Amino acid sequence: MRVLVINSGSSSIKYSIYDMPGESLLYSGKIERIGETGSICIHRRHVSSGIEAEQESKLPVTDHVSGLSLIFEALDDYKPASGNLFDAIGHRVVHGGESFYEPTFIDDSIIATIRDMLSIAPLHNPVNLAGIEAARNSFPVIPQVAVFDTAFYRTLPPRAYRYALPDELYQRHHVRRYGFHGISHQYASGEAARFLEQPPESLRHISLHLGNGASATAILGGVSIDTSMGMTPLEGLVMGSRCGDLDPSVCFYLSRSRAMNMDEIEAMLNHDSGLKGLCGSNDMREIHRLAADGDEQARLAIDIYCYRAVKYISAYFTVLGGLDVLTFTGGIGENDPVIRKTICDRLSPLGIALDDKQNQAHEKSTFVISDENSSARVLVIPAREELEIARQAFTLIQNHGS
Ligand code: ADP
Repeated sequence: MRVLVINSGSSSIKYSIYDMPGESLLYSGKIERIGETGSICIHRRHVSSGIEAEQESKLPVTDHVSGLSLIFEALDDYKPASGNLFDAIGHRVVHGGESFYEPTFIDDSIIATIRDMLSIAPLHNPVNLAGIEAARNSFPVIPQVAVFDTAFYRTLPPRAYRYALPDELYQRHHVRRYGFHGISHQYASGEAARFLEQPPESLRHISLHLGNGASATAILGGVSIDTSMGMTPLEGLVMGSRCGDLDPSVCFYLSRSRAMNMDEIEAMLNHDSGLKGLCGSNDMREIHRLAADGDEQARLAIDIYCYRAVKYISAYFTVLGGLDVLTFTGGIGENDPVIRKTICDRLSPLGIALDDKQNQAHEKSTFVISDENSSARVLVIPAREELEIARQAFTLIQNHGS
């Protein structure tokens, strides 16, 4: 069965087609900078040895619906003479709230429930919904499955997901921590177990996803027990342009003393804070260049970024009762040995030690970077969110038909 995976982000759409259950990647691509001038569209055809063909173009893509039309047009070129190019579609949906804890076949009632949740996920679910609706219009008879980023957190205990707020806010308004990046952390959990040749049930695992967004998840025996993101993906680690943890009083101060309204504060915390707020760039490669040139703000941004991660890892070490494996994934986690070393050096009181030579390696698949004497294994795991979505959609269809 061939599964098309659609992963719509705030300004991008990524897609992949996997042949399941063999998991071979057949096609992939992305459109970046949607809504900006000069969107970049990339389409790739894969064979087992790698990329067989790649097309790149710059086009104005004003919104996600027109982006998806472009992707569907490009896929049309690959359509076989008979039959379909794909048999099912899996969609990433960021926020499943308390309604969705499992991959779910999409129908009108599911769409209505996702729409009802837009008020708690105003920045993310609208683009996911746009992708679902465009795909249903274009492929009305192909089964479509929603896979939720929050679902991996169904196992969080109340002590981890409740805020210390009036009880009614949770009971009536569902104000709680939900956690995000669940698809990525779930993949990392399975992949760490596979790589270490140990059952997931035996592992105490801290998974770090360090991309534009960033989060840490404590995973005990293959299930999540705590995570750094909250009711929205704003809480927790320092991110590319999101602030992470913050005293809520900052918002009251900005409202009263700087006359900023709620929308302005929300936009500032999401889009102008984090690394970008601290040093002017949210691209870690650029930040390293600035730091190497002596830019003190860039150095401080790296220091704060790593320090916050260390605080979460140290807390989760205790929450888990020790640590067997620490994993790095996401654009920074996978590619940045300096950030990995800065974080791991600060973890030496926990017995964690890197092999500096291994840490400099660049591999396409999972590799180990810890020293033999390290108290926990440290792994780099290339993120495969699309593959995880394809697996979950495929499993649902296998088990329940469409
Ligand atoms: P997203 O969360 O949008 O999927 P990514 O996982 O692609 O983002 O991560 C984007 C981040 O990864 C950016 O900060 C970028 O600078 C960083 N990054 C990508 N490649 C490298 C690299 N070789 N070294 C350091 N950072 C990198």
